[in-house]
Amino acid sequence: MPELPEVEIFARYFARHALGQKIVRVDVRDERILGEIRADAFGRKLKGSTFLSVRRHGKHLFAETSKKDTWLHLHFGMSGDLAYYREREEEPRFARIVFHFLGEKGTSGGHLAFEDMRLFGVADLVSSPDAFIADRGLGPDPLDASFTFTRFAALLERRRGAVKSLLMSQEIIAGLGNLWVDETLHIAAIHPRRPIDRLTKNDQRAIFNAMRRLLKDVIARHERGADLPPTWLYHLREADARCSRCGGNIRRMVVFGRTTYFCSKHQR
Ligand SMILES: [Zn+2]
Repeated sequence: MPELPEVEIFARYFARHALGQKIVRVDVRDERILGEIRADAFGRKLKGSTFLSVRRHGKHLFAETSKKDTWLHLHFGMSGDLAYYREREEEPRFARIVFHFLGEKGTSGGHLAFEDMRLFGVADLVSSPDAFIADRGLGPDPLDASFTFTRFAALLERRRGAVKSLLMSQEIIAGLGNLWVDETLHIAAIHPRRPIDRLTKNDQRAIFNAMRRLLKDVIARHERGADLPPTWLYHLREADARCSRCGGNIRRMVVFGRTTYFCSKHQR
């Protein structure tokens, strides 16, 4: 399931293949992928415009078009993906939307498909990313330059409940999901059910640092196509695994409705 680092990779991919490209036609292959907009309006509004810039906030991708107040918004759900290709025959099986681009001197500029096998993703048009973020009440993006430790600590103030639930809540911090929250807490040595009001300043700092370092590290590894290290909790998500850090037992439980893995020895 794509979380912040995966969506960052989609944003970079989108920038590489779609920026500066003029849209000659949009094919909606399956209307169920659309948000509130109808397929004909979606295609009509994008036709003839050019993608100018791309922005990511949390798990959301936004692409600015040359039409005023018209941004493409993509959310990748469980199985969303992007695929750029030159020949029509290469269209992926689960393409739900295809953007056709105009190349030099009337040639084809290739095609970009938004794929989504399971259809939990969404494609929509929004007037601006900021309006969308405010409307949805999304929290700050943890990799934003303005996201400092002071700001993080302020988000935790007067909150209750398990630390994992808080980190998963998109209205508090946008972008983390099940996998990278578990990994963050494993690095920070914090139990997923630790109450937020029982975190010391040092604990808060450990979570903040682990989260930011992990997200940047995952992005860099995805970018290079590198594997994730075998020592990561990511590879230990099974019953009876041994913690690579302390040899403790990896345990499974449900937090925030999600299957959670943690080390029963060093995460307190
Ligand atoms: Zn451990």
